[in-house]
Amino acid sequence: MKIIMLGAPGAGKGTQAKKIAEKYQIPHISTGDIFRANIKGGTELGMKAKAFMDQGQLVPDEITIGMLMDRIKEDDCKNGYVLDGFPRTIPQAESLTKALADLGDKIDYAINVDVPDEAIVTRMSGRRACLKCGATYHIKYNAPKTEGICDTCGEKLVLRDDDKPETVQKRLTVYHEQTQPLIDYYKNEGCLAEVDGTKDLDVVFQDIVAILGE
Ligand code: ADP
Ligand code: AMP
Repeated sequence: MKIIMLGAPGAGKGTQAKKIAEKYQIPHISTGDIFRANIKGGTELGMKAKAFMDQGQLVPDEITIGMLMDRIKEDDCKNGYVLDGFPRTIPQAESLTKALADLGDKIDYAINVDVPDEAIVTRMSGRRACLKCGATYHIKYNAPKTEGICDTCGEKLVLRDDDKPETVQKRLTVYHEQTQPLIDYYKNEGCLAEVDGTKDLDVVFQDIVAILGE
């Protein structure tokens, strides 16, 4: 099963993608996590990406598309994957559609997690991230067992630089301009499904399972 998560930054794509990956036994591929791992590792790709991420801008398609295409060619992707944060532009979506079509394949579901802008800023300011394993928490809605520490790997949790309110505002503008048009793109492709992302995160997941099947 090949799944795309759509939605504004902070809508809950990563939270739900992790649960999908676990239940359906497919890899969770987050382009944001790949960039952050590269930044942490001090790679050239990381340095390039950081300049854009810190400004709330998208990393250019020339960098992002090749990186994602390489990742989905890996062995663990044979039975599918859940993409979180890719595609974010029409050229990214078109490249993915074409790469899959060349293999006689296609995306099965593009799930749009719908959350209005007003709720996003609260979510992002309370988000805490583990930069080691990619786990995400919320200080109020999804708190770790021990404050400030990742349940999964014990790493110290951080407020991402790009989750500060002024950068979040910029990211929302970029989302509406460049990423929201993907909702219509996937509607036309015939694989769009929508869920109300303002519900409790377990209820959102139940709604997703109802779409994907048990
Ligand atoms: P995205 O991957 O779309 O940027 P995340 O999955 O990281 O978003 O979620 C953003 C923040 O909101 C996180 O702190 C997460 O714990 C919290 N969150 C996710 N889903 C919900 C929900 N349904 N209700 C409340 N908070 C949520
Ligand atoms: P995320 O972890 O999905 O919130 O992504 C964090 C940041 O990484 C974004 O604000 C972008 O700067 C960058 N990024 C992640 N995925 C993409 C993508 N598909 N295209 C361009 N930039 C991306």
